[in-house]
Amino acid sequence: MALVESKLQPAKALFDRTVLAGDGFTCIVKQGQIFRIVDVEGNQAADTLFYDAQDPSNRYSAVDTVREQGNIYLTTGTKLLSIDGDVLMTIVADTCGRHDTLGGACAAESNQVRYAIEKKHMHACRDTFLLTVACSTRDMSKRDIAANVNFFMNVPVTPEGRLTFEDGVSGPGRYVEMRAERDVRVLISNCPQLNNPCNGFNPTPVRVLVWEAE
Ligand SMILES: [Zn+2]
Repeated sequence: MALVESKLQPAKALFDRTVLAGDGFTCIVKQGQIFRIVDVEGNQAADTLFYDAQDPSNRYSAVDTVREQGNIYLTTGTKLLSIDGDVLMTIVADTCGRHDTLGGACAAESNQVRYAIEKKHMHACRDTFLLTVACSTRDMSKRDIAANVNFFMNVPVTPEGRLTFEDGVSGPGRYVEMRAERDVRVLISNCPQLNNPCNGFNPTPVRVLVWEAE
């Protein structure tokens, strides 16, 4: 855990918006700008993807990020790498301490396999990603929805190598903050999942803020 607080004041943010439980969100964060996600009520999972804004095919790569930092969890100092090996974002502050990039996003398919056939029609992050992309850009489609980051989500790997979804390590008001190392499109699904403890069985809002480059 590397708990690092930020000195940035929300009142001075360039952009400040609440993303309600289950909603999607996308924006471009320009090179040098600081992007923060706040877990407003605690125990929420913010499923997030990153893309080179000039070339969305150069997208976030969980595999390269984990390999290069030699750690499966993300926190302060983590460089979020793209599939071309470029640094998209660097995490510069984190008051939660640990974020997942192994668990993936929930989908109609995973809801059926993990929980029950009747869960197919429940809201899921993959649908939110697709809807948000379809409504926001012309140069992206479902081929661009790859392995994501789950900010604030607790997915520990057991000594036996199993992946488990556990009660969150986050809390009300905790945040993660990152600097864009190039112009980056951020895509968020504020997870609507009701079948596992990733958001305490009670999806809640997150807040997103952007500050001008220092
Ligand atoms: Zn989800």
